[in-house]
Amino acid sequence: MQTRSRKRQFASDNYSGVCPEALEAMQRANCDHEPSYGEDQWTALAADSIRELFETDCEVFFVFNGTAANSLALSSLSQSYHSILCHRSAHVETDECGAPEFFSNGTKVLLLDGEDGKINVSSIHRMVKRRTDIHYPKPQVISVTQSTELGTLYTSEEIGEIGAVASELGLKYHMDGARFANAVTASGKSPAELTWKAGVDVLCFGGAKNGMALGDLVVFFKPELANEFDYRCKQAGQLASKMRFLAAPWLGMLKDQVWLKYASHANRMASLLADGFRSIPDFKILFPPQANAVFVEIPSAIQEGLKSRGWKFYNFIGEGGCRFMASWDTEESDVNALLTDANSLAGS
Ligand SMILES: *Cc1c(COP(=O)(O)O)cnc(C)c1O
Repeated sequence: MQTRSRKRQFASDNYSGVCPEALEAMQRANCDHEPSYGEDQWTALAADSIRELFETDCEVFFVFNGTAANSLALSSLSQSYHSILCHRSAHVETDECGAPEFFSNGTKVLLLDGEDGKINVSSIHRMVKRRTDIHYPKPQVISVTQSTELGTLYTSEEIGEIGAVASELGLKYHMDGARFANAVTASGKSPAELTWKAGVDVLCFGGAKNGMALGDLVVFFKPELANEFDYRCKQAGQLASKMRFLAAPWLGMLKDQVWLKYASHANRMASLLADGFRSIPDFKILFPPQANAVFVEIPSAIQEGLKSRGWKFYNFIGEGGCRFMASWDTEESDVNALLTDANSLAGS
């Protein structure tokens, strides 16, 4: 059967285009000459807006993508003989081609288990206490992903409990917030409550999956941790000369809570999709869909049917697990089109 091309897919939230507010903000920044390398007015305004959003005097850096944000942030927190503790399914482990280890000159990533893609206090304690001798890389950083790679959420209490353990054990606390917007809107908590008030030291705050073209932030809640981070960015090729085009779209996203409007829309579309999948026999939802992802086990013949009808999705999480992501621009009609095909293939 011929593969139809589709306007909107569920393969990833970064299949989506740029939302109008981010695009307009970029247009506004394109009016005339401006100083380069972050000395422009747009970068200053965007950084101030982030400080306002987080209700604290944080240090803000603009980089091109999430892999750079995570790996540079982690490398700034650790020495080469240290280790970084994260979940087995964490993006920093599975999807960054070893960049955190590379940029930190060999810091080892240690993998923790935990239900629904989340690490917890006991898994951290177990890993840290397992070895305390000089022959083992010294635990230095805890990294969590919010919302997680499996579409689940840490509650603000869970973030806080991990923060307390980090402080007790003298560890730094990093949050991969590639989908921070989805987590904020789903939790009903403030950005401050989900981060520094719960002990998070550094947040990588994603823009692309929320509706921007590109550009992620590294937000240091303890300014001393940001010491010389600008050099690290430059050396890694992450200092944008026309930085205003990375910065200005944030102004469009943050104004009138556009970022949360889109994230909550994406979450709602994922929840509709999950409801539809639940009513199809032999479809099994794998993790609680708490953000904009739905993981579902689908019989392989139906998976093939969906693919031949032009649907794209990832199935890299175990046997039969398929991932569907909703975006800022997913429409209810897209959800219904996918469910109609799934129902017809399932004969339900
Ligand atoms: C998408 C994503 C990133 C960033 O990936 P890039 O492709 O480098 O922008 C980081 N963490 C998580 C959990 C992601 O899903």
